[in-house]
Amino acid sequence: MPPRLSLRAARTCLLALAVALTVTQGFASRARAYCRENVKAQAMGACSASADVPDLFWTRSCMTYVFNDQLVSRLPLLSEKELRDGFNESFATWQAVDCGKGRKPFYVEQTTGFTTTDKAEFLFDVMNESVIMAKTRDEWATLDQDANALALTLLWHDRDTGEILDVDMELNTGAGRFANCDKPCGRDMMDLRNTITHEAGHVLGLGHSTVQGATMFADAPDGETQKRTLEPDDELGYCKLDLPEFTCPDAACQCPAPEIYPSKRTVKSCACTTAGAGGSAPVMGLGLLVGLVGIAFARGLRRRKRS
Ligand SMILES: [Zn+2]
Repeated sequence: MPPRLSLRAARTCLLALAVALTVTQGFASRARAYCRENVKAQAMGACSASADVPDLFWTRSCMTYVFNDQLVSRLPLLSEKELRDGFNESFATWQAVDCGKGRKPFYVEQTTGFTTTDKAEFLFDVMNESVIMAKTRDEWATLDQDANALALTLLWHDRDTGEILDVDMELNTGAGRFANCDKPCGRDMMDLRNTITHEAGHVLGLGHSTVQGATMFADAPDGETQKRTLEPDDELGYCKLDLPEFTCPDAACQCPAPEIYPSKRTVKSCACTTAGAGGSAPVMGLGLLVGLVGIAFARGLRRRKRS
């Protein structure tokens, strides 16, 4: 006959089990630290997922961005070719992730020209360009943005559902000199691809990861290049986004122009009552509630504070 456990011994076993479960859960959450951006995202630091808050998501299968016409002159350590190649390579890094089952990646396309648009904004009733621009230190201060932020990705989205409608990106030339750090970079020099690969993750819908060394980690020291390549945490996060698959719409294989969002959406609501009673279907006008999430990427600010 097995010995009977006293009440005290039974309680001890229960406590041990609870502790063991807590520790195991702790390891599990550390192993998966990527985070999807949601409608209540904070600009700095790690993002926090919540089942009650809608994640941001793309319904389009591709997007096209364009450089502002002052971008090249405001990044004097880079040629236009280095700039264009750097952006292409940064987005291609994400598109190369294999999410299995022959899935085709979401497609990000760069236009060859420039735009005079120098403001991050979303407007109703017109086509919105996704603009990449560089701001001076004074302009950045005027926008009331963190002076240590290297770049800011602005995701315009439906505030209720989280659908991404438009995206813009600003680089802060007051926080660092953007360069190609294939050659060693000195003080205050920031590698373009290191920054843009991180920002590209935001464009796709990822927030900041708590995994140091991951591309989506929120900070970067001067001259860092390790964020050019993705870590397993970044790849897991990318695949979790489940982005719509791009298939070429025609022989030119170009991304179609983005949808124009009307300031008033018409929604049919059925007022039918009983079958055969000739129910009516009135048309209602609804405004689209647009939210803005701006996610900043900082230059090693907190790491320096700790050291
Ligand atoms: Zn960031």
